[in-house]
Amino acid sequence: MAKAQYQEYCVSKYTVALRENFGSAKVYAHNAQSVLNKATGFISAYDFTLNPYRGCQYGCSYCYAAAFSPNSQMRADWGNWVIIKQNAGEVLKKELQSWYNKNPNRAPSIYMSSVTDPYQPIESKQQLTRHLLEVMLVYQPTLVIQTRSPMITRDIDILQNFNRLRINMSIPTGSEKVRKDFEPKAPSIVARLKAISKLRYSIPYRENCQVKFSVTLTPLLPTLPEDETNFIGKLEVIDRVVIQEFHASNARSLVASTRTEALALKQKYAWWYDREKESYQNFKNKLIAMLPDVEVMEGKEGFGYE
Ligand code: SF4
Repeated sequence: MAKAQYQEYCVSKYTVALRENFGSAKVYAHNAQSVLNKATGFISAYDFTLNPYRGCQYGCSYCYAAAFSPNSQMRADWGNWVIIKQNAGEVLKKELQSWYNKNPNRAPSIYMSSVTDPYQPIESKQQLTRHLLEVMLVYQPTLVIQTRSPMITRDIDILQNFNRLRINMSIPTGSEKVRKDFEPKAPSIVARLKAISKLRYSIPYRENCQVKFSVTLTPLLPTLPEDETNFIGKLEVIDRVVIQEFHASNARSLVASTRTEALALKQKYAWWYDREKESYQNFKNKLIAMLPDVEVMEGKEGFGYE
């Protein structure tokens, strides 16, 4: 199959329609052959990953997913383009049906999403993630949703009907100043904390159903000393905190690694990164001391559903 080309990122004739711009992002659409992809690496405990979009408008400085861009220009312009998998709903339905034909007694486990944010700004208009939730609800997979967007609260009416659901809200720092440096296009920390609290208290308890809530600090970014106590205290509402050190830098362009933007920013926070292991351990100790009813997990283990 011919490799898709994207207008403005390719000198040759492009084959994928440019729909429109959304905010500062160039928006493309394509038909996906498959949307359930075998989960590997950090999330290999799941059967599948599910990414409604390719690319991510949040463009976080440390995002390893940029490495999986369609070409080098798009990798360099990470955060400024997004591709909508416009047929994702119908493909997902077929793939889930096929799974159950082969595994009638076992629900699949799905991690949404591994290389995009399913609630990035364009979702407010496209509602593609919402549609995928509607499709999945019929099949009741074990589902983990990873996002940093308060927009997820829009879908409480659907989320509350899943039987096995974990919602991971990504909040890697408790300091707005640090957030603005490392992920300037992402929602504020206050908005994310309010969102996870709203989810926690809006989704009613149902017998034999397990809806769980995590905050992921991955990678763990510095939190200014004056913000620490207040931030950690706000995490009481959830059942799990996940922390993880920065991905190691890797010079090879096609593997997941921390991008140079983030590595440069680390210099600005030398008070934390000059003794990174010690800073990490101190913060972990504070989490454990202040959150006796919340499990504090690290890395791969923390990303599991259970
Ligand atoms: S929200 Fe997630 S996928 Fe999107 S740029 Fe940030 S780290 Fe990457």
